[in-house]
Amino acid sequence: MFKLAPLIMRCALCLNDRDLCDSHIYPKFTYRRMKEQGEGSFRVFSTSGGKSEGEILQDGFKEKLLCKECEARFQKWEDYFARIVRQKKLLDFKRPSDGKKWVRVDGLDYAKMKLFLLSILWRTQVSKNPRFNPRLGDKHEQRLREMLLNCDPGCFEEYGCVVTVPFVELAAGESEEMRPPVTVTPSNVRRKDGLRVVPMQIDGVLFQYVVGALDVVKRSVFCRVFLKPNGELIVGVEELTKIDFLRDAWGRTLGFT
Ligand SMILES: [Zn+2]
Repeated sequence: MFKLAPLIMRCALCLNDRDLCDSHIYPKFTYRRMKEQGEGSFRVFSTSGGKSEGEILQDGFKEKLLCKECEARFQKWEDYFARIVRQKKLLDFKRPSDGKKWVRVDGLDYAKMKLFLLSILWRTQVSKNPRFNPRLGDKHEQRLREMLLNCDPGCFEEYGCVVTVPFVELAAGESEEMRPPVTVTPSNVRRKDGLRVVPMQIDGVLFQYVVGALDVVKRSVFCRVFLKPNGELIVGVEELTKIDFLRDAWGRTLGFT
């Protein structure tokens, strides 16, 4: 009898008044593996304190955010990332046996990969969910929005991302679990050199975005591992308890701090 009218709201990306989708903040596909391993549920940690610490969820974070066209734009980059993860085993490698703490990945499409990474950072900035609280401010939100709208990946130092695959030692030196299936909402770390780092863990992978004046970023060590225009990405491999952000997030719940 009654037909619900579509809910017209402003799309956060194109700013047109449209019927909005239930958009995922962290891409939907990043929950698949966690749900399979966790029999339909997964654990989310929050670093901003409060009751969401170590919470068990059945569904990813989503909210009315994007119109269909903008959702489709993000989908292309997400599909690329998901395909690369499958084809290149981008995130499913074993710990390097020679003790190295990084793995080099070549042949990536700089624009698609970078825009995928930027789309996640931007979504965390415009989300109304209090779990995604640490804000970089309007200037960065605007700049990220422009880059995404114009499909402009920027220079590699701009919002560069340090990608790390953490592992957990299961028994001293004997075995380890790579990329433990956990998601952590972002934090916002201010460094002495004026740069800010926004770390978040998605489907076990640690993404740390480096934000700040480009001349300071260019002098920092982070530049060495950022995704490069030639398609190279250095992926770090590190024990989870050695990563402050994750140790703090997990430790409060699992008790190993
Ligand atoms: Zn839109």
